[in-house]
Amino acid sequence: MVKICCIGAGYVGGPTMAVIALKCPKIEVVVVDIFEPRIIAWNSDQLPIYEPGLDDVVKQCRGKNLFFSKDVEKHVAEADIVFVSVNTPTKTQGLGAGKAADLTYWESAARMIADVSKSDKIVVEKSTVPVKTAEAIEKILTHNSKGINFQILSNPEFLAEGTAIQDLFNPDRVLIGGRETPEGQKAIQALKDVYAHWVPAERIICTNLWSAELSKLAANAFLAQRISSVNAMSALCEATGADVSEVSHAIGKDTRIGPKVLECKCGFWWIVFPEGYLELGLYLRVQWPQRGCKLLETGRAGDTRETPAIGVCQGLLGDKAILSIYDPQVPQELIQRDLSMHKSELDKPPHLRPVNSVAIEQVTCVGDAYEAAKGAHGICILTEWDEFKTLDYKKIYNNMNKPAFVFDGRNVVDIEKLRQIGFIVYSIGKPLDAWLKDMPAVA
Ligand code: NAD
Repeated sequence: MVKICCIGAGYVGGPTMAVIALKCPKIEVVVVDIFEPRIIAWNSDQLPIYEPGLDDVVKQCRGKNLFFSKDVEKHVAEADIVFVSVNTPTKTQGLGAGKAADLTYWESAARMIADVSKSDKIVVEKSTVPVKTAEAIEKILTHNSKGINFQILSNPEFLAEGTAIQDLFNPDRVLIGGRETPEGQKAIQALKDVYAHWVPAERIICTNLWSAELSKLAANAFLAQRISSVNAMSALCEATGADVSEVSHAIGKDTRIGPKVLECKCGFWWIVFPEGYLELGLYLRVQWPQRGCKLLETGRAGDTRETPAIGVCQGLLGDKAILSIYDPQVPQELIQRDLSMHKSELDKPPHLRPVNSVAIEQVTCVGDAYEAAKGAHGICILTEWDEFKTLDYKKIYNNMNKPAFVFDGRNVVDIEKLRQIGFIVYSIGKPLDAWLKDMPAVA
């Protein structure tokens, strides 16, 4: 029986390994992590991350051929294939601060693999890393190898949070890069055999190591350019009365352009323009400095670190707004904790984030959307949970301060219906409400 061990039980390691275990019942998969609470959560009914379909997958194979353990060294030593899916945050200090990836976690994982291994292994780069990281890792492994043969493969992950299970079940492609030696090709074939359990052969692309590493970075860069273009287009839509959904549909029909990643949502804005934390937030800041503002929803998939919501909330808090926050999936303690942190601390793995027990006085977390909106001047919708589409907005309106605003950062509400109720509605990339057109310009 092939044994796989994955170092890092995060957003990539957990779902990816769960799907491998489900699709390959004859392979034993152990996901290990140094952060014990995460392992405890993976072994419980309350998984540490929310992804549609993930619960089902884990339930089907946990305890059979899928295991989660904090015993990192033991399982690495026993494995034939070791995936490394640790976090690679942006460096916050030293050379390359703010730009380069921090490979500390990767390097310590590689040193540990070299220390504990007693048999040949394939080591798979799953994390997103700079090109040539595999070479550095190879050096660490071979200089400490005691005669053990390590083959390094690059197998970058392309899943998106929120659709992880769907992406893993039906990937556009699986990319595997390895050395062009006979041993390297054998290692590529071994990993190809794993994916071949459910991914059609023509979707498994095999390349040299550097092409695989670079392809992940290149794909991210191309996506960022596209998002950036959609953002610019949505600003034009708001200024001209055009509708971003109609424009996206029209240009997406061009086969050279295609329809994907043409939606305009505030999450995308945050990724590309984190410093200008949304027009959405700016409107609110202009309208309600020192006054009340309430938010529906903070994050997506339980991963609040890179969500626009944290940036919007922090900006509003800076302007002394009072926030009432509801999220159907993110625990209230996590919302409070993340809001109290600086962005650089949020990038760290959970066990290295400072424990912050000081609740922010301006923030209340509540258990339902109606409660969140009670007495508010405005509502921000920052992710597209289905329940936000079907809320009784009339009831919400009746319980709000007037004029009542809706800032829809994900284009989920029926704008006309809400305007008929009496709301002033701002929806990203849509023609502006007459009232908002008269807003003072914000730099
Ligand atoms: P994450 O922070 O959710 O999880 C990483 C885990 O690794 C943490 O639980 C941490 O405790 C653990 N870890 C760190 N060092 C360790 C060590 N030495 N031994 C054992 N465990 C250790 O990160 P993630 O979101 O899963 O991302 C992992 C990698 O995949 C990153 O390089 C990321 O850029 C890349 N990636 C992420 C996504 C995504 O959507 N999250 C998509 C594609 C690629």
